[in-house]
Amino acid sequence: MIKKKQMLFGNMDGELVVAILENGKLVEIHFEHMERLTGNIYLGRIENIVPNLEAVFVNIGKGKNGFLRSKDIVLPNKKSSKDLQVGQKVLVQVKKDPIGSKGAQLTMNIGIPGRYLVYMPFAHGTIGVSKKILDLDERKRLHNIVDPLISKNEGVIVRTVSQGIEVEILASELEDLKTLWKEIEKKYKRSRKPKELYKEPDVLEYVIRERYDEKVTEIITNDVEIKNRLEVILKKFEARKNIVKLIEEDPIKLFNINQKLERALRRVVDLDCGGSIVIDSTEALTIIDVNSGSNISGNGFREMSLKTNLEASKEISRQLRLRNISGIVLIDFIDMSKEQDKKLVLETFKEELRKDKGKTAVIGFTKLGLLEMTRKRTSPPLKNSLFSKCPICDGRGFVISPKRLINRMVNDLSNLYHTEKPKKVILNLHRSLSGYMNGERRKFIRNKFKGVEFDYKFDWYDPNSYNINIKKK
Ligand SMILES: [Zn+2]
Repeated sequence: MIKKKQMLFGNMDGELVVAILENGKLVEIHFEHMERLTGNIYLGRIENIVPNLEAVFVNIGKGKNGFLRSKDIVLPNKKSSKDLQVGQKVLVQVKKDPIGSKGAQLTMNIGIPGRYLVYMPFAHGTIGVSKKILDLDERKRLHNIVDPLISKNEGVIVRTVSQGIEVEILASELEDLKTLWKEIEKKYKRSRKPKELYKEPDVLEYVIRERYDEKVTEIITNDVEIKNRLEVILKKFEARKNIVKLIEEDPIKLFNINQKLERALRRVVDLDCGGSIVIDSTEALTIIDVNSGSNISGNGFREMSLKTNLEASKEISRQLRLRNISGIVLIDFIDMSKEQDKKLVLETFKEELRKDKGKTAVIGFTKLGLLEMTRKRTSPPLKNSLFSKCPICDGRGFVISPKRLINRMVNDLSNLYHTEKPKKVILNLHRSLSGYMNGERRKFIRNKFKGVEFDYKFDWYDPNSYNINIKKK
């Protein structure tokens, strides 16, 4: 249950950030600088058509060429890549942000998102109601509201927050979206060169549109201008009065978001019950390992496993949101022999995932007992905006082992010992090696190179190398 849901608008490292907390726990963070292309609409030019791949590459006037898959080609009478020509202009929307060496994934099936509805000018009468609205009567009501408002070429998606919203509000939003679409279409018709025709709003407006719901208990900021902007936007969304609170101190500082974020983004995340989860992510796959804190056997084992798995399922769903992890996720829960325990963990996990505005699907347990799920990717994972590749290990996550490194150094010393005949040698090593170079190892080196005075300085910048400084006198 979410008793308290807060949205904080403040400053971190000089930029606007929005942090979302549920019951005091950080569940999402959005930065001003995160460049999202998803949702933007472009006039593109077809650069290349690869029939075997069923892919069409499109210059959108920004970065790498984007690509269209055949299922995303949906203009009237143009149903496959065969109907398109190189050099032709096309109206496209970004479906997924670029990742790695891949350009943006595009679609011609445009969707203009509002808070309650997504208007789709080319969707041929499709009406979709969010799967998160479970009540059948409500689904029918929403369907019947939008049905007469669109023509047979258009389509609409009714979003989760539309639940219980009056017809006037939905109709008026749809009108606004249609107007916005007409402007985009006009710009498209007037232009020839690849360019941006529509850009998703900035972080403040975007987060309110996508994340504000009736569970939000307060919105906090220390900036009067932000407060004013929020109130203008929230007015449209039927928000409760006085939900925005203006405080003296920056809420990002006040709520220790920096520390919370740092703690939450570690590879190993501790659980209150003593166990932990370990998260390893690559571009397409994430593996999450659940560990218990103690080694109990027998009856206690079942109880402890269940308790740890239940807590882990909550923490994992939070972590998926916070880190914005997407693609395939495999979770290795602690073994459970009882079917009823498995079921309880699965149900709890699914319940937690319902708080996630991202699209998730739980596939089930694999033959090896891993829980398999997917989370749809739209924007890059959080770590991409917070970190860059480690220059020391080049992203591998490993450095040369102390043993190999010191053996290499001893080898170099042997050569120098005979050629240079040093009196004194200063060895500069990375500080992580100070423990390894204990008395015993220093003695070994002293005995091997008799007559040389050694001085160790743990001030070297690189754990993969060392510096040998020879003094002849
Ligand atoms: Zn590294």
